[in-house]
Amino acid sequence: MIKAVTRLPLHWQIFAALLLAVIVGLVTSPETGFLGITLLSVLSFFGTLFLNALKMLIVPLVVASIITGMMELKPNTLGRLGTKTLLFYMSSSLVAILIGLLLVNVLQPGIVDGRPALEILTMTADIEAVMENVEGTGMGDIAEVFLRMVPANVVSAAAEGQMLGLIFFSLLFGYFLSQLKDSHGSVQKDFWQGLLSIMIQITNLVMKFAPIGVFALVAKVIMQSGTEAFGPLALFFATVIMALALHIFVYLPLVLKFVAKVSPVLHFKAMMPAILTAFSTSSSSATLPITLDCVEQRAGVSNRVSGFTLPLGATVNMDGTALYECVAAMFIAQAYGLQLSLEIQFLIVLIALLTSIGVAGIPSASLVAITIILGAVGLPLEAIGLILVVDRVLDMCRTSVNVFSDSCAAVTIARLEGEDGVLQEKNG
Ligand code: ASP
Repeated sequence: MIKAVTRLPLHWQIFAALLLAVIVGLVTSPETGFLGITLLSVLSFFGTLFLNALKMLIVPLVVASIITGMMELKPNTLGRLGTKTLLFYMSSSLVAILIGLLLVNVLQPGIVDGRPALEILTMTADIEAVMENVEGTGMGDIAEVFLRMVPANVVSAAAEGQMLGLIFFSLLFGYFLSQLKDSHGSVQKDFWQGLLSIMIQITNLVMKFAPIGVFALVAKVIMQSGTEAFGPLALFFATVIMALALHIFVYLPLVLKFVAKVSPVLHFKAMMPAILTAFSTSSSSATLPITLDCVEQRAGVSNRVSGFTLPLGATVNMDGTALYECVAAMFIAQAYGLQLSLEIQFLIVLIALLTSIGVAGIPSASLVAITIILGAVGLPLEAIGLILVVDRVLDMCRTSVNVFSDSCAAVTIARLEGEDGVLQEKNG
């Protein structure tokens, strides 16, 4: 039996683990246990172990990936690659926000029977705890994003998981390594290539445990969140899900089909482990090792393109987050009966776009960005309490969209750069 399961392709194993987790989460409660050991503590243990293993990979894998990618770059290609990547990221985030804006205006989840929904919605009490959790996670305005890009100390940037600083340093390092001609150059290149190969092997090993990790993380969330509180927020929940679904199942596949000229179905298949890991961890950063692995090994994108686009994308390109920020802020504004003029809506779109760049790839990070929007349109910051009940599950969904969008960028840019081994049947 166990042999048969381990012979299943990895994405089916993870998918089965996810379904099982939903069932276990629904039929058990945080008190369920045996001999004084609660199921919750067992799930927490395995979930944290998996998360730690993923986080352990991030710094060496990302640094080695960027540096080896950069050292292969021909002179003058960096500018071209950078322009394409930024264009992709900005346009896909903007489209995501506009999809969210359209749906929230059509469905009006914050208005019930023609009246603002504030009276029937309840605030959850643990706002402070959540805010404390996400504060100091590196969220900031656009000037701060640039400041973080150049870290005063690259070692502490690595220790604190400040990805932007690490990316910038690695890009510089890789660029100048590509210019190094003599024997120092070849020794260095061999070193980084070797490090990358080792990190890929360790990532493959960690991925084998993804079904257990995903099971533990998802069962824990479902067990703890319950379903009663969802009632009044059902329409908000549905609006976010529908908007995310339009983005991931319509817009991004269209880009894959017509710009990248590859099969969206093959790409979904290749990216399944990354999408499901993003779903269960709610963290683009923690998922990055798996995203890199799927895009390179399963979709066949070169390290040159994926090493550049993916670490950057996990930090600055968050379509799901941008969309969510916009829908959540509009929902709260509707629930408070705020008149939403075109100017206010434009302001919300702009702040959502800019803050989604600065949001860290960790669970619940959007909440800080949403409070920035609330402040800008004159709503009390505590209003964020309206959506906390459903935030975790929506976080899982928006993080999957964030990660999938990064992978679409990698594939599209690889194809535009003339790579034709991408997403051939043999890779999927
Ligand atoms: N959890 C999201 C991510 O890691 C960020 C957010 O929207 O809260 O991509």
